[in-house]
Amino acid sequence: MLTVEEALALVMAQARPVTPAERSLFDSRDCRLAEDVAADSDQPPFDKALVDGYAVRVSDLTSGNRRLKRGETILAGQTPTRGLGSCEAAVIMTGAPLPAEADAVVMQEHTRSAHEDVVVDAPEVRTGQNILRRGRIYRLGDPLLRSGVQLSPSSLGLLASVGRTRVRVIPRPTLAILPTGDELVEPDQVPGPGQIRNSNAVMLEALAIDHHASARVYPIAPDEPGELRRVVQECLVFDVLLVTGGVSAGQRDLVPAALERLGVGQVFHKVRLKPGKPLWFGIGPRRGEHPGTLVFGLPGNPASALVGFMVFVVPALHVLAGRPGPIPAALEARLDAGFVHRGDRATYQPARWVEPRSETGASGLGVIQILDWAGSADLLGIARAEGFAVLGPGERVFQAGEIVRFLPLR
Ligand code: AMP
Ligand code: MG
Repeated sequence: MLTVEEALALVMAQARPVTPAERSLFDSRDCRLAEDVAADSDQPPFDKALVDGYAVRVSDLTSGNRRLKRGETILAGQTPTRGLGSCEAAVIMTGAPLPAEADAVVMQEHTRSAHEDVVVDAPEVRTGQNILRRGRIYRLGDPLLRSGVQLSPSSLGLLASVGRTRVRVIPRPTLAILPTGDELVEPDQVPGPGQIRNSNAVMLEALAIDHHASARVYPIAPDEPGELRRVVQECLVFDVLLVTGGVSAGQRDLVPAALERLGVGQVFHKVRLKPGKPLWFGIGPRRGEHPGTLVFGLPGNPASALVGFMVFVVPALHVLAGRPGPIPAALEARLDAGFVHRGDRATYQPARWVEPRSETGASGLGVIQILDWAGSADLLGIARAEGFAVLGPGERVFQAGEIVRFLPLR
């Protein structure tokens, strides 16, 4: 049976960034840009007022004169009808274009009205004051964003400001979630005898969104070969397919056979991992210019499905989304108390922080507490956890303060 590291290497050998495509800005958050974008005009496109007040000529105020004639009013969105006359002040609003000859804006708060005139109380009026010059931010043709950057909310705003409502990006990987099992009912149903609610679908969808995929949840598929093949077939258009349940060695564990009948080639089945040993991984048939779907058969128990997702699906999604930076992996933490570990496989034990990591502490490492839990069906134990302590195979007595690996959930 493969170790976690061996199995992960096989997954990563199949993961490729999704083919770049044009997407709406609204679908591009956190995606990597796959083109260079330049400015379509100067920004700002005209000399603009930065405050509400009066557009003036500084030279009219240098000789001790403080009184100017009130000229035309320029609202944001309007253009001045004429240049500023001698000893004249135009009423101007934030964002409005400056009239010709004006070279400063005096804030409304630093002026008084006097009949037809305006009196400037500002102690000093400097050239350029409260004005943003045309092209001060960028000029037509300036490079704004380079291919490869990850699109933050503000860079999406920048793209909108240059009229790029659609851009070439590495799109979010598409991911289908297919829960299987005759014993399952949807969470809004009351389980009958022998039935349980489908808790995996919503959990995996939330994880998929956390890890940058565009997820679609399918209704529960029955443990029936024909129907199972029909829905799985429908899911082989996605970049990633997560099937839960039906991958162990039971009589109704029909998923591996259904997948293989549809041309999904098995890469591995079973990993030396606890919880989650029966995990299945394979590659669907090529989809035109796109590589085949990465298919993960996750064991149905909630903790097994979750650990399988964290250990194998998260790194794959990282690559598919073309994300920069290291692949999310376990960090180191200290145990708050002694712990006896027994197991023949790498074990992921729910744990939580008792002392967070710090930049200033002696080692910088955080301290974790291993949680008591009842095994892979115990979703309550998992819901209380902030991650998993990762313990190697074999029997081992850990002392308080010992360093172990910790895989955070977020
Ligand atoms: P299986 O992997 O099909 O052998 O299922 C293992 C255990 O996980 C069984 O107790 C199932 O009832 C349970 N299980 C399977 N699918 C789900 C699901 N979607 N939500 C919650 N539990 C599940
Ligand atoms: Mg089952």
